[in-house]
Amino acid sequence: MQIENFIGGKFIAPLKKTYLENLNPATGKITSRIPSSTNEDVEMAVEAAQNALDNWSQLSIDKRIIWLRKIASALESRKEDIAALESMDTGKPIALAKRVDAARSVSNFEFFAEHAENLSELNYKMSDATNYVTRKPVGVVGLITPWNLPLYLLTWKVAPALVMGNTIVAKPSEMTPLTANLLCEILTAIDFPEGVINIVHGLGPSAGQAILEHPNIKAISFTGGTATGKIVAQIAAPMFKKLSLELGGKNATIILDDADLPTAAKGAARAAFTNSGQVCLCGSRILVADNIYDEFVPLLISEVEAMKIGNPSDENTDIGSVISSNHMEKVLSYIDLATQEGGKISTGGSTLTLPSPNSDGAFIQPTLIEGLAIDSRCATEEIFGPVASIHRFFSEDEAIEMANITQYGLAGSVWTSNPARGKSVAERIDSGILWVNTWLHRDLRTPFGGVKNSGVGREGGDWSLNFFSELSNICVKDD
Ligand code: NAD
Repeated sequence: MQIENFIGGKFIAPLKKTYLENLNPATGKITSRIPSSTNEDVEMAVEAAQNALDNWSQLSIDKRIIWLRKIASALESRKEDIAALESMDTGKPIALAKRVDAARSVSNFEFFAEHAENLSELNYKMSDATNYVTRKPVGVVGLITPWNLPLYLLTWKVAPALVMGNTIVAKPSEMTPLTANLLCEILTAIDFPEGVINIVHGLGPSAGQAILEHPNIKAISFTGGTATGKIVAQIAAPMFKKLSLELGGKNATIILDDADLPTAAKGAARAAFTNSGQVCLCGSRILVADNIYDEFVPLLISEVEAMKIGNPSDENTDIGSVISSNHMEKVLSYIDLATQEGGKISTGGSTLTLPSPNSDGAFIQPTLIEGLAIDSRCATEEIFGPVASIHRFFSEDEAIEMANITQYGLAGSVWTSNPARGKSVAERIDSGILWVNTWLHRDLRTPFGGVKNSGVGREGGDWSLNFFSELSNICVKDD
C-alpha cells in the first residue's frame, strides 16, 4: 500500500517523490510507504487551508456541528477498519483498538458536536454597561500527534478545531499514518469541503518542523514527548503562536494501607501495562504502603502474569508488541539499567519470541522491578514501555513526596477504601489528572493536561474550544 498526502481535498504525492517505509511492529513486515514530506508540501497544505478558511469559518456553527456528526457516523461505520489498521500500525491488541481507539475516534466528534451545541454566550453585566465575549476562529492551525493512540489523539484535536471554524494542517506520527489516511478517505466519501482538513505525512524534523515554522499557522496543538515539546516551544513561542503542549509522564499509582488489595492489584496492573505501557497516563511507579507491601505485591505479580501476550490480531490478546524494534531496544536498555541500579526483576524482564507470523515482532514481557531507589534513573525517566517499578513507603507524606519527585506531572491514581482520604492525597500530588480507585476513567468535559514538564495548557471540553478560538471582549456602555 502506498499512501499520499491529503491536500485541498485530493490525495497528492510528495513534491520530492520521496517515501518512508512503514512497518507492522508485531510482524516486522513493511505494510506501506508513506510520503516523506518537506516544507514545500507543507506550504501547499497551508495554502489549501488558507483558501478554505473564509468559507469554513463563515459557515454557521450549527452547520459545522452537522459536519462533525456526519464525520462521526462515517467513522462509526468504519470502526472495524479503524481498529484493524491501528492494530497493524502499532502492534496493539485488536480488542483494545476496538474498545479504545476506534470508539474514542467516533466519540471525539460526537462529544465536540454536542459540547459546541451547548456552548453558552458569555456576557458580563456591569451597573452601566454589558461585556460581550465573542469568539472567532484562530485561523489555520497545526496539529502534531504521536503514535500511541493515533486516530484517537488526532481527532481529539481535529474535532474542536473544526467546530470552532479553523482549518487544519495536521501531521500524524510517521510510525502510524494509516488511520489518518482512512480519515481522509472518509472525508472524500462524504464530500467534506476541500482544504478544511489537510494531512501531511513525514518525519518530525522536516514535515513537523515546517508546520511549526510556517508564519501563517497561528496555533500549534502538539502531543508527544517532552524533549520534542521543548523544540516545539522554542520555535513556536517566539512567533507568538497559540501553543498547547501535551507531553510525557512518569505517573504514580499509590496503594494506601486501607485499599481493597485485589481491586487495587487489578487496577495497578491495568494502569501499568495497558497498550504495553505506552499510554502517557500509565502508572509506571507503583508506590505501596509498607504494612500491606508483602500481601499486595504477590497479588500484583499474579495479575501481571495472567496477562496474555500474543498476536495482536487475536481477540484474546491482552498485550501486543511495542511500537518498533528500536523502541524495544530502548525499553530493554532501561531493564538492563535497572539491574545495574540495584533493582530486582520480580516478573518479566525479557523479550518474547512468538510463532509465525509474529516471529520478528517486538514483544517484551510486562516487567515489574522492585528495590530501585525512588530517584534512580529507571524510576524517574519516562520509559514508555511495559516496565513498572514498585516502591515501599512508610507514611502518606512520604508517598506524596515520592509521587512528586520527578520532572513530570501528568497523572496518577490513589487506591483506598476511603474516597475522601484518596481525594485529599490526590490534591497534594502535582499532576493534572488524578483518579481515586480507578484509572483512565474519562469525562471529555474535564480539563486534560499536565504540570511541570508534562505540558502547558489543557485540552477537553471548554478548554479545547477556547484554545481553538480567539476571544474578544466588547464592552457596550448603556444608554
Ligand atoms: P515524539 O515527540 O517523538 O513525536 C510526536 C510527534 O512529533 C510525531 O508526529 C513526530 O513526528 C513529531 N516530531 C518529532 N520531532 C519533531 C520536530 N522537531 N518538530 C515537529 N514535530 C516533530 O513522541 P512519540 O514518540 O511519537 O510519542 C510518545 C510520547 O508522547 C511520550 O512521551 C508520551 O508520554 C507522549 N504522549 C503524551 C500524551 C499527553 O496527552 N500528554 C499523549 C500521548 C503521548
